[in-house]
Amino acid sequence: MFDFDFRFLNTDNKPTSYFDKQGSIEQEGIYFDGEMLAFSEIQEVVRYRNRLSIIIKAGAKTAVDEFLLPHFNGFMICVDEEEAFDIKSMMDREYTALQVEERKEELKGQGEVHNFRKSECPTCKSHIDLSYLQPTRYIFCKHCDSIFNKHGNYTDLNDYKICPVCHYYNRIQITPKVEAYFYGKEDKAFAFQTTFQCDSCTKRELNSRIWKNMPFLIGAIGDFIARNRIETDIDSSYAELTRANLLGYQGQIEEAKPLYESMFLYVKDQPGVLYDFGKAYLDSALLLLEDAEFTGEEQALPYIAEAVRWLSRCLQMCSNYEPAIKLFEDNEGLEYEIDDEFEY
Ligand SMILES: [Zn+2]
Ligand SMILES: [Zn+2]
Repeated sequence: MFDFDFRFLNTDNKPTSYFDKQGSIEQEGIYFDGEMLAFSEIQEVVRYRNRLSIIIKAGAKTAVDEFLLPHFNGFMICVDEEEAFDIKSMMDREYTALQVEERKEELKGQGEVHNFRKSECPTCKSHIDLSYLQPTRYIFCKHCDSIFNKHGNYTDLNDYKICPVCHYYNRIQITPKVEAYFYGKEDKAFAFQTTFQCDSCTKRELNSRIWKNMPFLIGAIGDFIARNRIETDIDSSYAELTRANLLGYQGQIEEAKPLYESMFLYVKDQPGVLYDFGKAYLDSALLLLEDAEFTGEEQALPYIAEAVRWLSRCLQMCSNYEPAIKLFEDNEGLEYEIDDEFEY
């Protein structure tokens, strides 16, 4: 059905062979170097750029057991970066269809089938289990990290996702990171990397290195390219997002607030931006609480209440938006008071 080249990776993300191996996605499952893994045996497939982690269901005995990594019920491969999204989506489509079907049968068995609800992602075609969740205007696909509306139309912009570095919702892209300067033995650098992160993270890093790189041609060119990338092709409705998120990340919510509020005029109730606003309040509160010199909790409490308010609003718009659910789970211990009207 679909053939692809891949290499197995070890726990250090290094390929274990010099040459490519053959993989193919067939009706019954996926072949890795001649061994078949049935779709019904897959728990999840996770992608980071060109790397895929294939996680096997607990207890499953499979033909690919020889490839499993130590202390991990799965294995990792790298594929061509251009094909990585499609390869993952083809796998996701098949095993999520089975999982959602299983869920339906399970609920049937419990006499709960009226609570069964599902959707299909218009971007990657994965099946999404929405059982017991309130129907909302937007739906989140955790398999490709995109937001779509209840009519099945893809609504957010292509590259807008949760950043793997700062965990804000923003445009993610690959940018060069060059550090090339020499100010004596103690203060020198000569490093080239590419980063995969949001524009706010690139801007933050640029702020700290741009003056150091400036007098040196290679460093200055690298920074020029990076700055150009984060400043071009921005959708005008999201123009302030990079600055707002960076301020939020640094705990400057009062400066970030008007920027978020002005964006809501254009992107009304977009779950990603609602999430960012909530997270910016939360980060500002957490920074205050972490500060050893800070004693007046009264200042942090209203920020926490605002964070809860905006994150709740995000879930009212998109009841399965996992990044917001995770923020609630990670910060369970925080106490707050909130008006009933915003309670989720
Ligand atoms: Zn999807
Ligand atoms: Zn970021």
